[in-house]
Amino acid sequence: MPVGVSAAQWTDWAWQMQHRIRTAEQLSRWVRPTEDEVRAIALLADRFHFVITPYYASLMDPDDPDCPIRRQVVPRTAELNDPAGLADPLREVDHSPVKNVIRAYPDRIAFCVNNECALYCRFCLRKRMVGDEEWAMKKRELEQGLEWIRSTPEIRDVLLTGGDPLIFSDDRLEWLIAQLRGIPHVEIVRLGTRLPVTLPFRVTPGLCRMLRRYHPIWVNTHFNHPKELTQEAAKACDRLLRAGVPVGNQSVLLRGINDDVDTMKRLCEGLVRMRVRPYYVYQAQLLEGTAHFRVQIERGVEIFRALRGRTSGFAIPLYVLDTPRGKVPLLHPYLRGREGEDVVVETYEGGLWREPNPQ
Ligand code: SF4
Repeated sequence: MPVGVSAAQWTDWAWQMQHRIRTAEQLSRWVRPTEDEVRAIALLADRFHFVITPYYASLMDPDDPDCPIRRQVVPRTAELNDPAGLADPLREVDHSPVKNVIRAYPDRIAFCVNNECALYCRFCLRKRMVGDEEWAMKKRELEQGLEWIRSTPEIRDVLLTGGDPLIFSDDRLEWLIAQLRGIPHVEIVRLGTRLPVTLPFRVTPGLCRMLRRYHPIWVNTHFNHPKELTQEAAKACDRLLRAGVPVGNQSVLLRGINDDVDTMKRLCEGLVRMRVRPYYVYQAQLLEGTAHFRVQIERGVEIFRALRGRTSGFAIPLYVLDTPRGKVPLLHPYLRGREGEDVVVETYEGGLWREPNPQ
């Protein structure tokens, strides 16, 4: 916590939002920015500018530009060098029957209810919309989305995402959730939010009291590195869990941040200690400005192969590639083939096992 800031201010999410870091000069109060970072901040000011909460900035290493926290949120000029990157690799716009309602599956949707986040992750899949006013949702547009859900009875599962739905005030979020709860075919409401990681003070007792009135509510959050597993983050997840909200985690596999077995193991085991289920790890998409984050898929498969048998099974998330046609699991081929009536499988130690196949 910086000198001159009281504990009450520091833990107030509105204070954190008001004091976000938006310029190289403000950043230099937290870290010693490199020349490349300062240049990138200027060059990207009109494209995907940077914003960081003081809380998240306090986790950055002031001297190490390769700090895994810093790399996630401070721009680099490498973002300008990605000829293969696309603005919308999952073709979410094509899959939207109405503004910001994304339907990739018959029975569930992602509803991007706002365009704002506490900070802007440099690898964000929705950088085309995050922080861009054009993608903000007016009340009338939220109502249009709700009306589409009301008139589409196949939809049983609604993910509220963005941006980040917890940027909304409790009242606005409650209005939205209550509208969804009034639709008989909507069984599950999920919230996709990174605020337990980037602004854990947003998960207030009042928010949790509100959420528990509308179960079943599920939360998926987004921790990428063990340094993010702070006491504050653990308390935020604990408040959600005590309100009966199951909390899962979706990470992105990021080069130089979590693309090694030891880091991924510490992340997943730390999440389990917090009672947060490691759910998915996404292959980083072919997304503009992110070539320096992408990891070869074979390397990703190796990492999760190496975890198998070396930690609790439920601590191992499913490594997936998201495509415009839905998610595809990226799995090591444990099923090695057939010998006569037997099926041959690979054990975690790399040996083979022949299992008589039931007739
Ligand atoms: S919190 Fe999520 S939606 Fe917001 S910038 Fe980060 S990755 Fe994108």
